[in-house]
Amino acid sequence: MAETSNLKIAVVGGGPGGYAAAFLAADLGMHVTLIDPEPNPGGVCLYRGCIPSKALLHVAKLIVESGQAKNWGIDFAAPKIDLARLRSWKESVVKKLTGGLGQLSKQRHVEYIQGKAGFESSNQLRVSRADATEVTLSFDRIILATGSRPAIIPALKLDSPRLMDSTGALNLEDIPGTLLVVGGGYIGLELGSVYAALGARVTVVEMLPGLLPGADRDLVLPLHKRLEKMFDAILLNTTVASLKAEGNGIRAAFAAAQAKPPEEAKQTEEAEQPEKAKQTEKVFDRVLVSVGRKPNSEIPGLEKTQVQLGSRGFIQVNQQLQTADPLIYAIGDVVGEPMLAHKASHEGRTAVEAIAGHKVAFEPAAIPAVVFTDPEVAWCGLTETQAQAQNREIQVARFPWGASGRAVTLDRPDGMTKLIIDPKSERVLGVGIVGAGAGELIAEGVLAIEMAALAGDVALTIHPHPTLSETVMESAEVFFGTSTHVYRPKRG
Ligand SMILES: Cc1cc2nc3c(=O)[nH]c(=O)nc-3n(C[C@H](O)[C@H](O)[C@H](O)COP(=O)(O)OP(=O)(O)OC[C@H]3O[C@@H](n4cnc5c(N)ncnc54)[C@H](O)[C@@H]3O)c2cc1C
Repeated sequence: MAETSNLKIAVVGGGPGGYAAAFLAADLGMHVTLIDPEPNPGGVCLYRGCIPSKALLHVAKLIVESGQAKNWGIDFAAPKIDLARLRSWKESVVKKLTGGLGQLSKQRHVEYIQGKAGFESSNQLRVSRADATEVTLSFDRIILATGSRPAIIPALKLDSPRLMDSTGALNLEDIPGTLLVVGGGYIGLELGSVYAALGARVTVVEMLPGLLPGADRDLVLPLHKRLEKMFDAILLNTTVASLKAEGNGIRAAFAAAQAKPPEEAKQTEEAEQPEKAKQTEKVFDRVLVSVGRKPNSEIPGLEKTQVQLGSRGFIQVNQQLQTADPLIYAIGDVVGEPMLAHKASHEGRTAVEAIAGHKVAFEPAAIPAVVFTDPEVAWCGLTETQAQAQNREIQVARFPWGASGRAVTLDRPDGMTKLIIDPKSERVLGVGIVGAGAGELIAEGVLAIEMAALAGDVALTIHPHPTLSETVMESAEVFFGTSTHVYRPKRG
């Protein structure tokens, strides 16, 4: 590593991008100021994203599994849900983790300012502190890590406490009798699963032909099948044309979606245009709108810098995460997809190393994506969908979990692990997993891709028995037609 630097650095935004950057900068000897409106670092991920949603999904899993235990000869009584206690447990998890980050900031001598920052110039920030005082501070470099917020469909704006975004849904004010989830992406499906497990009758509406747009269809299928049983309805190719508040709920009007290529649909908020003739209507106790997220790039005074925004409002950066303004770097959700915490953290660390003068670039071979539903869906590297779009020759080796001893002991044979392999070099290009715990398993796939592993490397790596991790090894064996537990000889 190059020498540490004595620079004065400001990090604006204390999410997983911002605090990872601030901590590394401090570790490298820089003088760091971290600015965020919350009392401690954590950002969306810890306060109203990854962490509270996963705490609730853990509870949902327990409820579902305790019901499933009937099949194994254990009959639990229906759960009594103490919502206030559940809420306070979730809040205690958030408090513990954000408090821990506050401690880590202090230990590293990071100056934490609770407040909001705007630009006076490329190297000067005007900070409005939580105590209503203001201060102007100068820095050598500034890292923007301002994150993102839920996107809103203008046609579905409604002044009703029954209408929620993901933040409102995580507040868990009550368990509605019926819940409409607008958007079949990962946030909608995760939060829909929580509410369904707690007893709400959930309807999901998605304008595209399948749930989890972007994920390979064979990975989504087992999840779709299970959610069909858990949810009241999954309405595909359908849009919500309008929402109207009524005395006893919100009336939603559904219409058939107009066929639009996914990319185009994603980029226009007006994409959800109703075909009025085919409308049907239904009243719901609550509605959750989860149709994507928008970057927080409307930072006060940004026009006083040379920072440039792209077409969807993301801040434009190079591979060192440097903006068009040489003194300003930007990382995380505010610079683009995938909007995921681990991508934000890695970008944060890369930006700091670049500022420290190290020879670095953010060029991961694989960024894992995990949907924490039941079953979980996870993938990394090249997907089959991408390979098809690129007309790229690949070979796919699938291992069905019905052949995994561990999956059967868990009564979860509904999974599948697949490797996407370059047929000539035999390199692992992508990994996809659907099944219980897929989110933990995918890390091996990321490592394999980053280390340029060949299918033979994965097949020759001894995996512990009986574990679900064996499905990764056996997928590689499937590629050679020699999987111990699947008889599928290689043709030709
Ligand atoms: C319900 C939900 C579940 C999610 N689950 C997952 C998951 O399981 N795994 C995963 O990887 N990702 C998940 N995400 C996405 C993840 O939360 C984000 O990708 C991640 O938080 C982005 O980190 P960030 O550092 O870019 O910004 P953020 O976490 O968005 O933090 C940005 C911070 O900057 C602050 N800020 C904004 N403007 C200013 C300003 N002018 N001055 C000072 N501070 C400012 C904001 O208030 C915020 O605290 C989830 C998101 C949601 C909503």
